[in-house]
Amino acid sequence: MREQQIVIVGGGIIGCLTAWSLRKLGAGAVAVIERDPTYRFASTALSAASIRTQFGCPVNVELSLYGARFLKTVAAEFGDDVDIGFNEGGYLILGDERTAALRREALAMQRGMGAEIEELDPAALAGAFPWLSADGLAMATLGKRDEGWFDAWSLLQAARRAAIRAGASFVTGTATGFSATGSRVTAVEVNGASLPCDWCVNAAGPSSGAVAALLGIDLPVRPRKRTVFQFKAPLPGAGMPMLFDISGAWMRPEGDGFIGGIQPDETNDPDADGDFEPDHALFEERFWPLIAARVPALEQLRVGRAWAGHYEMCLFDHNGVVGPHPELANLIFATGFSGHGVMHAPGVARGVAERIAFGEYRSIDLSPLAFDRVAANAPMPESAIY
Ligand SMILES: Cc1cc2nc3c(=O)[nH]c(=O)nc-3n(C[C@H](O)[C@H](O)[C@H](O)COP(=O)(O)OP(=O)(O)OC[C@H]3O[C@@H](n4cnc5c(N)ncnc54)[C@H](O)[C@@H]3O)c2cc1C
Repeated sequence: MREQQIVIVGGGIIGCLTAWSLRKLGAGAVAVIERDPTYRFASTALSAASIRTQFGCPVNVELSLYGARFLKTVAAEFGDDVDIGFNEGGYLILGDERTAALRREALAMQRGMGAEIEELDPAALAGAFPWLSADGLAMATLGKRDEGWFDAWSLLQAARRAAIRAGASFVTGTATGFSATGSRVTAVEVNGASLPCDWCVNAAGPSSGAVAALLGIDLPVRPRKRTVFQFKAPLPGAGMPMLFDISGAWMRPEGDGFIGGIQPDETNDPDADGDFEPDHALFEERFWPLIAARVPALEQLRVGRAWAGHYEMCLFDHNGVVGPHPELANLIFATGFSGHGVMHAPGVARGVAERIAFGEYRSIDLSPLAFDRVAANAPMPESAIY
């Protein structure tokens, strides 16, 4: 019998892990089209590489728990020489009176699903983290397990090597068009040739909206620029968790200093096609004053380099779009993760591979993330987006 041909557009962490998962399940021949094997502008390479179980939607908690298990056992999957430096440092997410009730509701759901998260009142917070100002806080939550940070670059390289070892092929080039007949995509255009496919996966990250548009599909995923700042401060980073302030500013230890950032104002957050220039004004005008109010030691800091990458932002509801298109049934989306795509990549990749190999999700039910909700105008908003 002819082996089915699966073409994946985009060889970032989603594309590489999907290719590896497909081969592991024996789903068919897999070709990954990647326009830039240096990954200079890929979100995966530019991410803050952190993982948390504290989400508002149950499917995202489940994906994070799956992701954490994967990160802890990655050497067993990909080989003993793979070290992604997973530091289970936890996320400390601060809350005020305004959000406390909603946060506690989410906490009950997260714990019910197996996440290990502790609630701290302001007195306990001040005792545990004396470097933090508890002004204006009503509560905080701290992940005790399955949360922290790692090296996304090493993970990406290991996933790519594992996919190749498992038999996937990588094509260097840009997917510039598709052929489709009736309800099926039949080929992907790359390097002036036509690559036939039985299945096509759109894993093009921040460009996935543009890739979908080549088929006339309005996928509400757009590139949005996010800047990460490096800095040093007279504060020991050891034992410090990833911190999310009520202002939206975040920071965590990295090397012998820290990294941090904040979302730009909604009114100043355009589509960022091709713009990778760090937003230095954001540091001076918003990030530094806000984070120093919460962590007073940061009033004296030494600024290092900054970099900018693109979120693949799902403008519809800040949730991933995963699974088949309602009309082009062999076109599978795996995108739109709005800032949490590295941590969810292992579970999403496994799910997409199961959907193609078995016609159903087996490990995690990813149907809440289906494109159908976009078509039906039924958003499932994710509240915990930073
Ligand atoms: C500053 C920042 C911080 C982040 N922090 C975190 C975090 O802490 N934790 C977390 O989980 N996530 C984080 N994210 C989000 C995360 O990086 C993404 O969700 C994730 O990397 C998406 O993976 P991907 O493979 O879909 O995209 P990418 O890594 O961007 O890969 C997509 C690939 O598709 C290729 N491509 C695009 N179009 C085409 C085409 N037409 N033809 C061929 N190839 C094409 C691109 O070259 C690219 O390599 C962050 C993102 C940014 C920008």
